[in-house]
Amino acid sequence: MPDLATFLPRLDAGMREDPSWGEVASYIPELARIDPEQFAIAVASADGALYQAGDADVPFSVQSVTKVFTLAIALGRSGDQLWTRVGREPSGRAFNSIVQLEQEEGRPRNPFINAGAIVTTDEVLAGRPPSVALAEIVQFVRAAAEDDEIHINDAVAASETAYGHRNFALAHFLAAYDNLRNPPEMTLGTYFHHCALEMTTAQLALAGRFLVDAPGLPRLVSRSRIRRLNALMLTCGHYDGSGDFAYRVGLPGKSGVGGGILAIVPGRASIAVWSPGLNQYGNSLKGTEALARLARAMDWSIF
Ligand code: GLU
Repeated sequence: MPDLATFLPRLDAGMREDPSWGEVASYIPELARIDPEQFAIAVASADGALYQAGDADVPFSVQSVTKVFTLAIALGRSGDQLWTRVGREPSGRAFNSIVQLEQEEGRPRNPFINAGAIVTTDEVLAGRPPSVALAEIVQFVRAAAEDDEIHINDAVAASETAYGHRNFALAHFLAAYDNLRNPPEMTLGTYFHHCALEMTTAQLALAGRFLVDAPGLPRLVSRSRIRRLNALMLTCGHYDGSGDFAYRVGLPGKSGVGGGILAIVPGRASIAVWSPGLNQYGNSLKGTEALARLARAMDWSIF
């Protein structure tokens, strides 16, 4: 098995050789202007070491990767009650699909597609002002990463609010089916803000350690909950590309349209990759490829 300190720079160089970088998300104007030709990888291992290569100190918009943190908080607050409002099955649809929500009468397939994440955020709000719920989310992520510098980028949240027509449609659909407890605008404002959390690739790898389940790493949720969060990441973490990601990488992972992916090697490591150009499923093109190469080289797979 290669040594990570020498392998990651080689992987970074290899990723930069291929001229196809994918397309940046254009529906959020603040993300549309990011240079796609960037790549970073960081591995936080269970023994406490952090390895990184490429643009690992450049902050980026974590977007849907935050859904893992909000799900952990929602389950901590209300336990299995969340599952009366959201399913646990892969969607086989795009992250922002509306058609399935109507067919299934307002109960989103899983907590990682946008409709399911909006319901999860609604559960985290639980009648509290958005500022209080957001403070809890930021605090959870900071505790996981052991880094108090992590913050929300308000310009990205404002940009998504101004152009988030599909998410407004989803939230109002949920409300029409009586599956939102707070006003749609309030839940969505909270959702847009937690999606706008900004982290470097190194910070994201450190924040993911709470899902590794190894002694000495930050423990924020129970062992059985860690396993369940990982199960959902494996089956639903990449939208309609979840099967392809499980096949190619073989690890639980959660992607975001900012081009970040968090992947977990249970008991061994938390891995973050970032490259803003996306593939046809809306997941980082080079990030997915880099994870496939790393998992193969390190012989890391849950199978
Ligand atoms: N804030 C984004 C949205 O709602 C998150 C989607 C993603 O990262 O996949 O569209």
